[in-house]
Amino acid sequence: MAYLALARKYRPQNFHEIVGQDFVIKTLSNAIELGRISHAYLFTGPRGVGKTSTARIFAKAVNCKTPDGVNPCNTCEICEEITDGSSMDVIEIDGASNRGIDEIRQLRESVRFIPAKCNYKIYIIDEVHMLTEPAFNALLKTLEEPPEHVIFIMATTDAHRIPPTILSRCQRYDFKKIPADFMYDYLSGVLQKEEIEHDRDAVSVIMRNSEGCMRDALSLVDQIVAYSGGTVNIQDTSYLLGLSDYTIINRLFELVLNEDITAVVKHTEEINLKGLDYIFITKTIIEYLKHIMFAKATGYFPEKELTSEEIKYFTKIMEKIDENRAFVLFQLFQKLLQDLKFYDMQQYVFEFGLYKAANISKVIDASAAASKSAPIPENKTAAKTSDTHGKSTDSKMGLNDMDKMWDKLLDQISKYNPSTSANLSHGYIITSDSNNFKVGFSEAKRFHYDIVNKKEHLDIITNVVRNFFGDDRKLSIVLENGSKKKGLSEKKEELETYHEKKTKEEINKNEMISKIKNEFNGKITNIKVYKANK
Ligand SMILES: [Zn+2]
Repeated sequence: MAYLALARKYRPQNFHEIVGQDFVIKTLSNAIELGRISHAYLFTGPRGVGKTSTARIFAKAVNCKTPDGVNPCNTCEICEEITDGSSMDVIEIDGASNRGIDEIRQLRESVRFIPAKCNYKIYIIDEVHMLTEPAFNALLKTLEEPPEHVIFIMATTDAHRIPPTILSRCQRYDFKKIPADFMYDYLSGVLQKEEIEHDRDAVSVIMRNSEGCMRDALSLVDQIVAYSGGTVNIQDTSYLLGLSDYTIINRLFELVLNEDITAVVKHTEEINLKGLDYIFITKTIIEYLKHIMFAKATGYFPEKELTSEEIKYFTKIMEKIDENRAFVLFQLFQKLLQDLKFYDMQQYVFEFGLYKAANISKVIDASAAASKSAPIPENKTAAKTSDTHGKSTDSKMGLNDMDKMWDKLLDQISKYNPSTSANLSHGYIITSDSNNFKVGFSEAKRFHYDIVNKKEHLDIITNVVRNFFGDDRKLSIVLENGSKKKGLSEKKEELETYHEKKTKEEINKNEMISKIKNEFNGKITNIKVYKANK
């Protein structure tokens, strides 16, 4: 028997053989079970994730003579014809090569005829986004009044290129990129079933190179098996995929992290001589940084995505870089990737990007130094602020000694009951001596005044005041009509607003931060001022 390519041999024939698309499969199966068949479906998603396979299984499932639940039997005449592509009633159209109005007109003609053998005549239009505008218009007319016996299944990688008029007439199913774990397990499973000797590193590399496309992964396995004479090992896989390039990239990445500019420049010359693709290198480094940041955050590497050599490499290299630097480098290389795609003089863009990357800690140190030296306003800084009468005067901005004492006392009270303390903080101290402790509330704060005058709160306050001062001073809490005095909480709030405003001003004026902004072509979108801990 002739050798059957793995991608064909393992093409799914049942819904449960579709890997990693549980949501889509479940919804479609339910629809079949309930007999709720729509006349137009749109399958969207990356290439090689099972859109066309699902369409074929669906075509069989709704036409099969002896279905097995929602799945086709795959043995009846109809199933077999659909599987080998000879069915008159299941028509596959490649949108890329039949994109004109004439082809679609032809399709509209044939739609009218009832199916030869099947219940439904099914049109599977692959890469439907490639159709021309007149072709879409012609298709739309059919979709508006589809004959009872017709089902359209359109598949596309670019849903945004489908006109809204078409989209609105389709049931849409979004296929996802196959998750790395699923893909790894599936590939290992196929290799085991085929009794092909393999190592896990090779499977990881194949999987990663296929970028979530199962068809590509299986074709690659075929190639490697053919090359190696029956096994799938990391040496042959690396050779076939040109992975020796990774050694050069790894070295480059290390030199950048060491900030060894001279060596980086030398190494770049080697890269230029070898004619390696700058975009490929940049993408690879971005991926490295992603893995490092991930590992720093979680404490482990995604084992199925990486070879054991790579895990060793990353573990070693991780010590050279902290989270902060990894993040800044990540942004820098992403920017470099954009620039490489955008500008003509790739070599210079690439070299300049590397130069910046190899200098990154200088930029980070400088920014840290800048934020340290930025003068943060002291509590007692005199500043312009408006007083209670609305006139602008120079007044003391900050807490006086009485306020500070009040703050400490409230802190003690909050240990017994935070609510007591919070309500009391809207008041101010009128008198505090060995005989009396008098707290006032302005009319505006009557609400809080009423609360603290309840017995449960008064008891706490009385006790804490006695312990705090260590004497028998008498507590009184009064409401002062016409008082404009501010409670402590209000004062503190104003102070914070003031500090925040000042700090933001400082940051915006800071020279080093401006430099970083320009260097990365960035802008400050948000400044958050954290309150100092007590
Ligand atoms: Zn069947």
